[in-house]
Amino acid sequence: MFLVIKQIKKSFGVGDSRVEVLKGIDLEIERGEFCVLLGPSGSGKSTLLNIIGGIDLNYQGNIFIDNQNIREIKNYCRKHVGFIFQDFNLINWLNVKNNYLLPGFFTKIIYKRAIEDQEEKLELQKLKRKKVRLLSGGQKQRVALLRAIIKNVDILLCDEPTGSLDQENSQAVFELLKKEAKERLVIVISHDENLAIKYADQLYVMENGKLTKKRDSIKTTDKFYCRLKKHAPAN
Ligand code: ADP
Ligand code: MG
Repeated sequence: MFLVIKQIKKSFGVGDSRVEVLKGIDLEIERGEFCVLLGPSGSGKSTLLNIIGGIDLNYQGNIFIDNQNIREIKNYCRKHVGFIFQDFNLINWLNVKNNYLLPGFFTKIIYKRAIEDQEEKLELQKLKRKKVRLLSGGQKQRVALLRAIIKNVDILLCDEPTGSLDQENSQAVFELLKKEAKERLVIVISHDENLAIKYADQLYVMENGKLTKKRDSIKTTDKFYCRLKKHAPAN
């Protein structure tokens, strides 16, 4: 198992105002699986994602990548994790291309090879020299997505990456992320249940600080088997 999460607990506040947001989260994901988390606002999805990504180190429990505790992996977040945040985290006064180059350790060569190909798919080629502050919400989201993808990390964590996109673009983003999931672990927080059910290999719902596996993504297969059974010759 590539990612193993054991009994993650997290609280905010102290004394009487202390609230336990994560109440013991267990999760196991194979490399190459596309995992989607659904759940109401305030249920702790972003909190969990920040912990998985190594941004928030203040939690109980353990997270293992390839059997190694992430607390012990050097530069875990910077080297191994790509993030797409709800609020994009782009630098407004830089142009699009320089935002791609921000994560630092990839070269112009990689830029050419990886980015130009993806830019076309995300319809971003024309925006390269435009300042980020001049982009629409949807455009910013696609830039953030592309920046995270070209960092070429083992784990790609996306916090509502389709939040300000229309249906068509949302679907395109899910297609892209599903493809990315073949080469790296991708976890997406989404509020779009239909897309989640359509694309996820693993589908979970966060509710009241607990994560439950939702079987809807498997239902179509169940139905398929029921139908097969019904039409199977009696013996
Ligand atoms: P979701 O992403 O599912 O909408 P969050 O993980 O952002 O939920 O938040 C879960 C709960 O934790 C919310 O009640 C939120 O107010 C609280 N919370 C999140 N971050 C902090 C923080 N830094 N300090 C205090 N409370 C927080
Ligand atoms: Mg959130």
